[in-house]
Amino acid sequence: MVRVRYAPSPTGALHIGGARTALFNFLFARHHRGRFVLRVEDTDQTRLVPGSEAAMMAGLKSLGLTWDEGPDVGGDFGPYRQSERLSLYRRYLEQLEAEGKAYRCYCTPEELQAERERQRAQGLPPRYSGRCRHLSATERAARAGRPSVLRLKVPEGGTTVVDDLIRGPVRFEHAVLDDFVLCKTDGTPVYNFAAAVDDHAMAITHVIRGEEHLSNTPKQILVAEALGFALPQYAHVPMILAPDRSKLSKRHGATSVEEYRAQGILPEALVNYLLLLGWSPPDGNELMSLEQAVAAFDLQRVQHTAAIYDQKKLEWMNAQYLRRLSLERVIEALGPFLAAAGVDPGGGPPLAAAVALTRERARTLAELADQLTFFYRAPERYDLEGAAKYFRHPDTAERLEALAERLQPLAAAWTALALGEAFEELAREWGVKRAEIIHPVRLAVTGRTVGPGLFELMEVLGPGACLDRIRRAAQAIRQGVVGR
Ligand code: GLU
Repeated sequence: MVRVRYAPSPTGALHIGGARTALFNFLFARHHRGRFVLRVEDTDQTRLVPGSEAAMMAGLKSLGLTWDEGPDVGGDFGPYRQSERLSLYRRYLEQLEAEGKAYRCYCTPEELQAERERQRAQGLPPRYSGRCRHLSATERAARAGRPSVLRLKVPEGGTTVVDDLIRGPVRFEHAVLDDFVLCKTDGTPVYNFAAAVDDHAMAITHVIRGEEHLSNTPKQILVAEALGFALPQYAHVPMILAPDRSKLSKRHGATSVEEYRAQGILPEALVNYLLLLGWSPPDGNELMSLEQAVAAFDLQRVQHTAAIYDQKKLEWMNAQYLRRLSLERVIEALGPFLAAAGVDPGGGPPLAAAVALTRERARTLAELADQLTFFYRAPERYDLEGAAKYFRHPDTAERLEALAERLQPLAAAWTALALGEAFEELAREWGVKRAEIIHPVRLAVTGRTVGPGLFELMEVLGPGACLDRIRRAAQAIRQGVVGR
């Protein structure tokens, strides 16, 4: 059975790179009816950020990425936090030392530093010399009790080949790998050792992770081989880079799942967008629900080259979801954004009707909330450029008043159709184009120059608010408050 894992270190927020890795693991597991394991890699206590584990879990759940085994739900291969698995690591460390596959290194940080500087001065890459590998029994006895780390005896010649499912074989010469550290002086295991042990102990069949870990993989393979473990298969997914091919950072947009949520990106859209960061759908149809992605996902269609982050495309994707999701779902997601915009939909027209009219024009929930405000609040000011253009004509106030009079009797049958006809009639009577009436009225009613179809929005807003706003605009124009 396929078993994969997402193995975050709880050192901060859930970033899109991590979320993408989690997504690919989730899809691979679900596609193959396997298991998706969440493993928390928290052995490096100095890097831990309180609350990060919970935040990461919440982020994954918000995207619909649920796991079958993990610290919160348990499972047959637990515990799922590495800090709770220290006795297991200790056992394997002792085994490697007893079998002579690992050795104690007593070099002090100062000695190692001096060694690196010597190498640098000679133009060599920094690499542990293996000094303690060759200590005699007496030299070793003389050092007993001093602080020490455990290092793996990396075979002196030869290569380790990572058979990557995405990139094919990648060769690493042992000559460039040094005898790397397995556990620190206090006995805590380092990442490469703990990960190799856990991938075996948790019966992981496929290690799917970011390309930045490719250079760790030979080390994990060497650990597994020293312990006699069968190897999982490896798949390294491409990095996510900024449009200028630099490392993705805040200045390119949001980077954490939480920030995207706060910007008004729907989780459904974000997860669909993440899917396309390194994977392409076989039929070219990029809009896919999570279920569709489960059915279609495979590692063959993961690209080798870096995935380029594109904020515009994410917003386009979000706009598609704003249009396609059910009104109930959009309204549910919209709640906090309305509150932030100070909109209380209680007293106004039905939110569903207002959202249905507006959602095609918004890219984010924040934009949508902003575009909905006039349904629930009379405009406090009029768009300046709009007022200079549409409230300037000397007849505007008079026309708005006449229009209000004409529309008043329609109050009982206030439909877009009836409103359209009334505008048509007036335009004919006044010998003007319909647009010449529409623009000032839109500005009077919404305060803005763009928005949904005027007659449709007036129908939703209702006669009371519309007539009131038209008359108030006329008054403001007469008083010279606007339009001059
Ligand atoms: N804890 C590592 C990280 O967060 C996990 C890498 C792996 O998947 O092995 O980058």
